[in-house]
Amino acid sequence: MDRQPSKKTKFIFITGGVLSSLGKGLAAAAIGALLESRGMTVTFQKLDPYINVDPGTMNPFQHGEVYVTDDGAETDLDMGHYERYTNAVMAQKNNYTSGRIYYSVIMKERRGEYLGGTVQMIPHITDEIKRAVLQLDGSVDVAIIEIGGTVGDIEGLPFIEAIRQLRGDLGRENSLFIHLTLVPYIKTAGEIKTKPTQHSVKGLLASGIQPDILMCRTEVPLDQSLKKKIALFCNVEPQSVITAIDVDSIYEVPLKLHEEGADDRILEKLGIWTGAPNIKPWEDLVYKIKHPRRTVTIGITGKYVELREAYKSLHEALVHGGIAGDAKVELEYVNAEELEHGGDPQKLLAGCDGVLVPGGFGSRGVEGKIHAITYARENKIPFFGICLGMQLAVIEFARNIAGLSGANSMEFEPAPKHPVIYLMKEWFDFRTGKIEVRDENSDMGGTLRLGAYPCKLVENTLAGDAYRQEEISERHRHRYEFNNQYRAQLEEAGLVVSGTSPDDTLVEIVELKDHPWFLGCQFHPEFKSKPMRAHPLFRDFIQAALANKKK
Ligand code: GLN
Repeated sequence: MDRQPSKKTKFIFITGGVLSSLGKGLAAAAIGALLESRGMTVTFQKLDPYINVDPGTMNPFQHGEVYVTDDGAETDLDMGHYERYTNAVMAQKNNYTSGRIYYSVIMKERRGEYLGGTVQMIPHITDEIKRAVLQLDGSVDVAIIEIGGTVGDIEGLPFIEAIRQLRGDLGRENSLFIHLTLVPYIKTAGEIKTKPTQHSVKGLLASGIQPDILMCRTEVPLDQSLKKKIALFCNVEPQSVITAIDVDSIYEVPLKLHEEGADDRILEKLGIWTGAPNIKPWEDLVYKIKHPRRTVTIGITGKYVELREAYKSLHEALVHGGIAGDAKVELEYVNAEELEHGGDPQKLLAGCDGVLVPGGFGSRGVEGKIHAITYARENKIPFFGICLGMQLAVIEFARNIAGLSGANSMEFEPAPKHPVIYLMKEWFDFRTGKIEVRDENSDMGGTLRLGAYPCKLVENTLAGDAYRQEEISERHRHRYEFNNQYRAQLEEAGLVVSGTSPDDTLVEIVELKDHPWFLGCQFHPEFKSKPMRAHPLFRDFIQAALANKKK
């Protein structure tokens, strides 16, 4: 393949060692934030070694949430960290899996593009990976490339080989290897152990990669002598051994890395000269997080109550809403199935100042979530329904207020008596400018409404007041829609439609009057919330929950 030297962009490659879940994504996002605080532009890419073509069809229980970008890509949840910490906008090109890389190579082979040659891991797969990385060249000052998984994983080898080659292609001054590793503290011995890090670096060296900087996840700060020891065994300078200490709030990571001089080392090694960083906004943010004036409790009724990763962005957006309201947000996960099987909402949601029903797929726990909505509606408890949560709020309203008994979504019943939420057979896709056609038999994943869509707001509604804009853009990921056949009837019964597609064909936001705050939206606002700029709907929902608490 072409070995064009980088036009402008410098590349940082982040690998992980010892074990997974060390927070590589957060470290990458925090580095991006620090570079932005010095006036640089950044972008990211996550290279995931698994074979699924994208995370769209993966079980959130195994993989965590599926993060959706403006361009409708279903991506790894690390994209969420990247967008929350920086101004970078993620898209399809920012997340590749082995599956996607192999798929494209195999398609090329089938089309005869390799002219009968033997298609191999090196150079064909590695070249495809390099092409994916180099797409980002020229777009920003620094591109941060995170390799998923842990060094030593069989699946990850082609990625490691590709970035090894890229260092040669790009040149030393344009590329940097950061390795995130674990330095465990063994309580019984009262000792910090460097051996796993030594082994992990050895593994990298065996693949031809000498890390430039080591970031060591640890419970206790590493002193100079330990840094020297790690440096000696791993061939790096002691000042390139960075303590990545455990923190209470993930938003402290940029500050902690800065204190350790991580950004100075990175810039020095990449030969970039910038002014002093402006980290004040991050300091102010962390101060606010650590000194909340009050607490508010939000009940979340979901299917994946066991695994918080499945609701990552949602959780963060609630935290952001809390920051805006000077409040610490306590989350109370309530199992929807328990509510469904006789659990009393009054009891299970007691102590919750607000109730949130998040997005989801499938019928499990749905009736339980509807009970929770009835409880929030009748007891005037602030309610926020997101995607599935909005659809269930519509069903609840149809059944219990509009007198449409038997109202349901076609997702849970093939032919409900009143399909208030239904599968639109044809709809106009604003992004592609084409009419999309689908039915019950369409491929899984292929029929979702995905990515950013415009939404027109109605003035003097909760939504209108929150956004203070006539038109907004929010991200979607769902198959079913509000059925317009019931719109007039539901509106007559008191349902307020406060947001629709600009052509008025898709209902995007519904609300209730005579309730302190009851809103459901068909999109996922949590994907666009940032710590320093809470999403207006989350901000107002938390405000309403705080007001409810005072009562
Ligand atoms: N299951 C619903 C649908 O497909 C809602 C999806 C969601 O909440 N993301 O329309």
